[in-house]
Amino acid sequence: MALYADLHRHLGGSVVPRILWRYFKRHNPDMAQRFPEYPTFEEFYTRKRNTLDEYLELHTLVESVQTEQTLPYFIYRLIRGAYIFENLAYLELRYTPYLRTPEHLNQSQRIEAMTNIVQIVGKASQVKEYPIIISQILCMHSRLPYEVNKAIVELAAQMRDYVCAIDVAGGDSHYGERLDEFIDLYKYARSLGLKTTGHLYETPEGCYPELLPYLMRIGHGIQIPLKHPELLPQLAEANQCLEVCPTTYLKTGTLEDLYQLKTVFDRCFDAGVDIAICTDNAGLHNVRLPFEFENLLTQDVIDFHQLQACQDAAFRHAFAWPYKEPPASLLIGLLNDDSSEEEQELLSV
Ligand SMILES: [Zn+2]
Repeated sequence: MALYADLHRHLGGSVVPRILWRYFKRHNPDMAQRFPEYPTFEEFYTRKRNTLDEYLELHTLVESVQTEQTLPYFIYRLIRGAYIFENLAYLELRYTPYLRTPEHLNQSQRIEAMTNIVQIVGKASQVKEYPIIISQILCMHSRLPYEVNKAIVELAAQMRDYVCAIDVAGGDSHYGERLDEFIDLYKYARSLGLKTTGHLYETPEGCYPELLPYLMRIGHGIQIPLKHPELLPQLAEANQCLEVCPTTYLKTGTLEDLYQLKTVFDRCFDAGVDIAICTDNAGLHNVRLPFEFENLLTQDVIDFHQLQACQDAAFRHAFAWPYKEPPASLLIGLLNDDSSEEEQELLSV
């Protein structure tokens, strides 16, 4: 059995529509009344948006219901689905902890409350019956003030048992006027020994070469091979991996056709830049990781050889995978051990 790693999945976008609709039925009369039947909710929740900003607004719908009390409910279902339907052995789950704290608190109280959120997510992620190695990435946010983003970096550094890295999210066209701030925050994160990724070069408006030196991986980054291929040798040299999330670009209107990703994969392979294929928002898209793989294959974007290279790259670039090898190598080791024991038994008869 192949086991996979997903390096880019948002907690907010990880709730599949049926789970969310059932939750609304039970706990949110307004939403239950607006969507009495499931198909209309699924249509609303998963439909294509015109822009990245419009698409990101949907996250606020889920963020509003992912509170201290309900997070364990949603995370349990997320892990169950990831284990049963996606064969995940490893998952990095990302979110902005500030946006899960109670809204009625003031800013400094909300900053304080973030610790509790990280602990709740960390504890809820350890489900004995569905063993997946899960680590958190804390996202700074383009719409949050500097003090909050700085506190997010510091929290990540304090909670290394649960957190493996930091990220910046919230729409890559919004970093522009605060670029120096984010460079400072990334420098600070690196000085604390934190690992880094960042939503960057996702859309043509989100291309900031100034941020690249501070990132170990690039969230999306598809505009680099598409529009700025001259940067690829520099990425290869720095061993920076792109986190490519195919379905997202169709849902946000960034690409019209999955086949446009062929240029992304071909140019990265030629330049020696690794790609990890990820889901971004598996729930919101209603597309799980094995289907992302299959779609790329059936639409001739990549071949099996390239797919396996990307699957291996995901484990190599995982921030908290504790082994040198991907799980397939470990399983092969186990199988070989078994067969040699059997052989030994046969010999001893
Ligand atoms: Zn993302």
